[in-house]
Amino acid sequence: MSLLKCLEGFVPSESGVYSEDEMRDINIKILNERGVTVEDIAQLAYSTQSKYLDNLTIEEMKESVLDVLGKRDQFHAILLAANVDVAAENNLFSEPLNSILNKDLGLFGLDEAIALSIAGNYGTIGQTNFGFLDVSKPGKINILQNNKKRCNCFLDDIVGALAALSAVRVAQKHAIRQAMGQIDFDF
Ligand code: MG
Repeated sequence: MSLLKCLEGFVPSESGVYSEDEMRDINIKILNERGVTVEDIAQLAYSTQSKYLDNLTIEEMKESVLDVLGKRDQFHAILLAANVDVAAENNLFSEPLNSILNKDLGLFGLDEAIALSIAGNYGTIGQTNFGFLDVSKPGKINILQNNKKRCNCFLDDIVGALAALSAVRVAQKHAIRQAMGQIDFDF
């Protein structure tokens, strides 16, 4: 049986390694099942970065989110976060861990630690961006944290980290574009 319905019947590869398209596809399915869309993350990232970039569009931010969702570190963090949350929801852990996760105890800290482990993947500024989102809890992060029917202990932080990553990636692209002219490149 699979804790996540969207992965019911999933046949793992021999190597445990997946392509960017496969990882992106699985990540989006998991996030959707847990009530988070690419648009939600793009909105968070856009509101983080739009004050610094005049010509930023939500479409560009969505493209950044999709790129970020195709990377292995993010794939592993999303898999881990969603599985832990759903396992806690189903009371599959021993106490006191199960209760700590279900009440999203502020002093637990390992949810933020996992999020921080990916937030700096495009530069340290991603970790400060994540810290800001973690403290201010805008939009979807606030909705996830206040959903008492689900355990979103890890998910709200992962969503903050994904938004922070997407924002930094776009900031890096804009900075290089400005410094080097309109040369397109992959980042
Ligand atoms: Mg949390």
